[in-house]
Amino acid sequence: MTVAALAGLWYNRVSPQTIAIYMTPDEFRHRVLPTVLASWERGCFCRTPGFLKLVSFKFEDYGVAPMAVVDSEILIAEIIGKRFPREGQLTYGVAERVQAYRCPQCNARCQATYEDYSISMYRSFVLFENAPEKASTGIYLVGLYGPNLVAFPKVHDFRLAVDEAEFLSALIGLSHT
Ligand SMILES: [Zn+2]
Repeated sequence: MTVAALAGLWYNRVSPQTIAIYMTPDEFRHRVLPTVLASWERGCFCRTPGFLKLVSFKFEDYGVAPMAVVDSEILIAEIIGKRFPREGQLTYGVAERVQAYRCPQCNARCQATYEDYSISMYRSFVLFENAPEKASTGIYLVGLYGPNLVAFPKVHDFRLAVDEAEFLSALIGLSHT
């Protein structure tokens, strides 16, 4: 699959570039997301180190141009955005929008930051209050996206999963799919 073909898959946005592809965003949605969501229904991930690491990805931590992790964006949209009740109003910063949410299962509070960039890219990240320590390494199945491929290697604490089982194990503690 070429970068150009991938671009069309990502929420119909003109995604700048994506690398480290084990699967496309569509494959992730169809093959992996149902397992993730079914597991979430049985118990939330608010204290799961791998989940906290993924959803907190923030390119500013690496001193690079805007980039995001596709897997993180999908999980934030599907789990936080669709399953967590909002708390209070959406607030607007200079460029970003910030919304607080509360987990319907464990009552953990978190804050999501959303931002659009003029280069036709979008990112979000979520920080939980009083959360346990995040995993030292974030593991993804789809990969990073952003306009500047050469910056991707600077994201030293995220890597491609060996396979779906490793991704699920890191994310939700499953030992098998
Ligand atoms: Zn929770």
